[in-house]
Amino acid sequence: AKEAGRNRVEFYNHSMTEYVQERVALTADLRRALEETELELYFQPVIDLSCGRCVGAEVLLRWQHPKRGFIPPDKFISLAEESNLIVPLGEWVLQQSCMQMQQWIQNGVPLQFLAVNVSGKQVLQTDFVERVAAIFAETGCEPQRITLELTESFVMHQSEFAIAQLQALRELGVGIAIDDFGTGYSSLSYLKRLPITRLKLDRSFVSEIPHETNDIEIARAILKLGDAVNLRVIAEGVETAEQHEFLLQEGCAFSQGYLYAKPMPIDAMQTYISTNLCV
Ligand code: C2E
Ligand code: CA
Ligand code: CA
Ligand code: CA
Repeated sequence: AKEAGRNRVEFYNHSMTEYVQERVALTADLRRALEETELELYFQPVIDLSCGRCVGAEVLLRWQHPKRGFIPPDKFISLAEESNLIVPLGEWVLQQSCMQMQQWIQNGVPLQFLAVNVSGKQVLQTDFVERVAAIFAETGCEPQRITLELTESFVMHQSEFAIAQLQALRELGVGIAIDDFGTGYSSLSYLKRLPITRLKLDRSFVSEIPHETNDIEIARAILKLGDAVNLRVIAEGVETAEQHEFLLQEGCAFSQGYLYAKPMPIDAMQTYISTNLCV
């Protein structure tokens, strides 16, 4: 038994080492990926429920690794955060998003907004606001057309500095959405204190509608809350017509999910917008 125990420990150490090595290797690859063209922006349409058509899109990063194939963001965003690569990476995503917005305006398929995911690590850089402003200046994209999505967990542990950064971003004119809203079990008092413009109702509350009465009630409560504090809500992960109907009835402003469209590359998105844009 002792022997087996020791083996287990050894096995555990061995796999831990492998795990660490694997992450170190992937991080090095990611550094290179940022310089080469292995990273690509995908776009998922956001539907305005009052007109039933597309008004915006969320930008989602994709990594086509030359040897390992497709690596989903859930695997590499955490690596990027640990290594601080998320700072240049996130800046690249924002810059590309602004350029794409301008391109679509030029092509006659203007979206009202692009929602760009931003890591707390980016926001905490002292020059973040300056750099965001520089991207708007350099691309000609209006700040009003960009919404930054920040996770509830980041916003919850806000420091005075983080709040000041968000305030300065709002003054530029960008929108600020709280992503994964409802998952943080946080005090709601911060909603009043923060300069935010939207809430994203987390997919976990949407996916079991209409079968889970608890989820229905949570979704309803969050929609009411949004109404009370004047924040429009985007429901994410909408996959069924029943969920769509529910959100429409409950007065949700925006909706996003596989029911309408999966995230897609630039060309497919341009085709999508040209036939589905809310006018
Ligand atoms: P998120 O911001 O919560 O993005 C929504 C995720 O839900 C996306 O996964 C999207 O593809 C997926 N999704 C959308 N509709 C549905 C649906 O109807 N059903 C289901 N089952 N899933 C749906 P994705 O693209 O794999 O991204 C995962 C996470 O990676 C994102 O979660 C976001 O936190 C992070 N991420 C992606 N791109 C970036 C980025 O450029 N910067 C940062 N910081 N994070 C990013
Ligand atoms: Ca998001
Ligand atoms: Ca989300
Ligand atoms: Ca989520």
